Amino acid sequence: MTDFDVAVVGSGPNGLAAAVTMARAGLRVEIRERADDIGGGLRTAPLFDSEVVHDICAAVHPMAPASPFFREFGLAARGVELLHPSIAYAQLIDERTVALAHRDLAATCAGLGADGDRWRRLMEPLVAHSTGVVDFILSGQRSWPDDLAAPALLASRVLRHGSPFHGFATEEAAALLTGVAAHAVGRLPSLASGATALLLGHLGHSTGWPLPKGGSGVIARALADDLVAHGGRIRTGAPVTDVRELRGTRAVLLDVAPKGFLALAGDRLPARYAKALARFRYGPGAAKADFLVSAPIPWRDPEVGRAGTVHLGGSRATMLRQETLAARGVPTAEPFVMLVDPAVTDPRREVRGRRPIWAYAHVPNGDTRDPLPMIRAAIERHAPGFTDTVLAERAVTAAGLEAYNPNYVGGDILAGAITLTQSLLRPVPRFDPYRTPLRGVYLCSASTPPGPGVHGMSGYWAARSALRHEFGIRTAPVLGPAS
Ligand SMILES: Cc1cc2nc3c(=O)[nH]c(=O)nc-3n(C[C@H](O)[C@H](O)[C@H](O)COP(=O)(O)OP(=O)(O)OC[C@H]3O[C@@H](n4cnc5c(N)ncnc54)[C@H](O)[C@@H]3O)c2cc1C
Repeated sequence: MTDFDVAVVGSGPNGLAAAVTMARAGLRVEIRERADDIGGGLRTAPLFDSEVVHDICAAVHPMAPASPFFREFGLAARGVELLHPSIAYAQLIDERTVALAHRDLAATCAGLGADGDRWRRLMEPLVAHSTGVVDFILSGQRSWPDDLAAPALLASRVLRHGSPFHGFATEEAAALLTGVAAHAVGRLPSLASGATALLLGHLGHSTGWPLPKGGSGVIARALADDLVAHGGRIRTGAPVTDVRELRGTRAVLLDVAPKGFLALAGDRLPARYAKALARFRYGPGAAKADFLVSAPIPWRDPEVGRAGTVHLGGSRATMLRQETLAARGVPTAEPFVMLVDPAVTDPRREVRGRRPIWAYAHVPNGDTRDPLPMIRAAIERHAPGFTDTVLAERAVTAAGLEAYNPNYVGGDILAGAITLTQSLLRPVPRFDPYRTPLRGVYLCSASTPPGPGVHGMSGYWAARSALRHEFGIRTAPVLGPAS
């Protein structure tokens, strides 16, 4: 017997959201986490210098202020301050050309010349219906939308921007949106990457692309504190190797990828379900670089130094080529690189003149190449002299990311390829994708709808399913800090 009603395996944002939801329903919850620290993709730690902290995985949080789970949980009331850069993201096209997405839609349109009006017509209706758009996408499309305009606005735009015929007249606007589509890390263009571009792109002008003050780890800490305050327990350094270890709890929620689930329970799953899990496709990998630098990045265009996130992707045509090659498993010398200098948005991340730089490149799944030369070269092209500011650096290859966290299979940081089918039907085609054929066992990771990102919704929906089926609790628990 165990003292707990519910066991959660893994303390990523979804495991924590699932645990908080179950504990708020009055159940006794224990999380077991294999790593020595909580958070999964939400860890912040010193790497080279004990005073300067680095985000090991997620750094920027377009989903956090927008997600229905976090809206109700109330990050601000827990002391999590989301800081907004004035420029949400910048697209570096060539040595002379950059495109900027300001938080302010009008400022963005003013900078896009001939395409300013097209950008406004694309984004303005989505911004006006932002809550409806976000709720529709993050519901995993399994409930009737409250705002009926949202799916209609999205559908027409996804068809256009998920196709080769984007309709922009200028390279700046076309590349700016394609850089956001590249967050889907896969073949470009595609309907799934088009949806990603519209979701994240419009958030840049509504609830923003903020960074949490002090680093992403503060979000994990706020969730863990709430769990503990409601009687939950977290055990770190406690890997689970077989679901049978959790016998005695009425519900088990697994914050793991399909590969991890097969390792934990493959021999007990019905053959058809196990085969479907084994067919789950993983996307290209990410290879991460962390730098400790002695100065802000010396961008050729100083405006880039105001951007929270920088896409070093080049032109739209370049990104289509590079992303599609990475998706096909072909290594290239100049991959798409995403970069964040957190001190731009959160000046206290710089300590005594030393600051962290976070970057990763999109590479083939399982790639073992050291990304540092590629990433340094990409930055140096747009910021000559950057290398001279580097005090320390480290790389994690795509293959190494899986060793760090088994959910990132082959370095796939999105826990499953973002195709249209797999966005809706992950990990296997089921109306309730969280419930598995094993009694009381649920999947709650980013490999379930609505997919990757720090929004907590996979954990929340999995917990709601488990509450209904295992405990007969149909009412959504109150998650806010006041209760
Ligand atoms: C380099 C990188 C950059 C990213 N950047 C961003 C970003 O800027 N913004 C954003 O929104 N998202 C970003 N992401 C994606 C985001 O981090 C993930 O989508 C999110 O963390 C998924 O949450 P999760 O809870 O499903 O899984 P995870 O966060 O991966 O957590 C899973 C947890 O389960 C644990 N676990 C797995 N198996 C077991 C086991 N058998 N026993 C015990 N514990 C186990 C793991 O150790 C891990 O702690 C990034 C990811 C990476 C890797």
